[in-house]
Amino acid sequence: MSLNPITRRRFLTAASGLLAGLPFASHLRVYSPANRLARGKYSITAIASRNGLEAIQLAYKLISDGKDPLDAVIAGVTLVEDDPEDDSVGYGGLPNEDGVVELDAAVMHGPSHKAGAVAALRNIRNPSKVARLVMETTDHVLLVGKGALRFARAHGFKEQDLLTDKARKAWLKWKQSLSPRDDWLTPPEEDQQTGAASLLDRHTGTIHCASINSSGDISCATTTSGLSYKIPGRVGDSPIIGAGLYVDNDVGSCGSTGRGEANLQNLCSFHAVELMRGGMSPKDAGLEVLRRVASHTREERLLDDRGRPDFGLKFYLLGKDGSYAGVSMWAPARFAVADRKGARLEDCACLYDRDN
Ligand code: ASP
Repeated sequence: MSLNPITRRRFLTAASGLLAGLPFASHLRVYSPANRLARGKYSITAIASRNGLEAIQLAYKLISDGKDPLDAVIAGVTLVEDDPEDDSVGYGGLPNEDGVVELDAAVMHGPSHKAGAVAALRNIRNPSKVARLVMETTDHVLLVGKGALRFARAHGFKEQDLLTDKARKAWLKWKQSLSPRDDWLTPPEEDQQTGAASLLDRHTGTIHCASINSSGDISCATTTSGLSYKIPGRVGDSPIIGAGLYVDNDVGSCGSTGRGEANLQNLCSFHAVELMRGGMSPKDAGLEVLRRVASHTREERLLDDRGRPDFGLKFYLLGKDGSYAGVSMWAPARFAVADRKGARLEDCACLYDRDN
């Protein structure tokens, strides 16, 4: 993987943390109450969606330095929210059908079993930080739209236009290409082949990041600009606790990226963690929820010619014992992991392969 200069600098900063002496934990059983006594023996691990390699490097370093896993994952996803090149999260995210960026995010803190979330938030580039404040400073879990914006303003967040030029051009091309029967003229063929026009396809993307510290405490965050060119006000799975993410500090966590509607209809992250509680490995639990989504997908428009779900959906699962997996509806797919072996991308376990 080639890293641009900024990425390389961030990588080197994070990498120095990866070399620090780290506690080693052998496999610990998850469900025995005795585990609660085994503080200090868990293996520090951070996982994320594929776009989260830098995020987990930072999260891993912060946890190794003694920071709380929630601080660590929020610091990690903030890198991606701030990155104008990631068109699926925060600043630079692709907008709704009116050309306005609307963000969804949620955080969950294992030790307190508390969660906070915001949805359809405009003008604030770090919705995960606002979600955390919802969790910490209110008696609520989810704030949406104007209420979420007012809340963010009250906490001193600065408003800004989140639409970058690149995202605006992509949206404009999408709008111009919608119909030959409106007043927007279709851009010339060569424009369609280049740059922003490659984003004409409805496009999804998100970052989920989860981590566990040496005391066995788990936290996670999911943050996104959601489905590109969505109907204004559309909320996906990311800010919904039990769908976009879920943690049970005695068991593990799960978070998602991909078609939010399919996840919302099946509440997959909660389901996956419950399957892990029942003894399934992260990989088996993740594949099982994907099978459930597949069996519940009945509309023809969502199925391929072999009756398989014709959309992407991925889950990132972390077990209390440091076991982890990324699973995907379709191959190929990768996800990011950092543990005592370093930070890297690994292959997801996939339910379907277009070649088979
Ligand atoms: N799950 C997000 C949503 O539906 C989008 C994505 O992850 O691609 O809003």
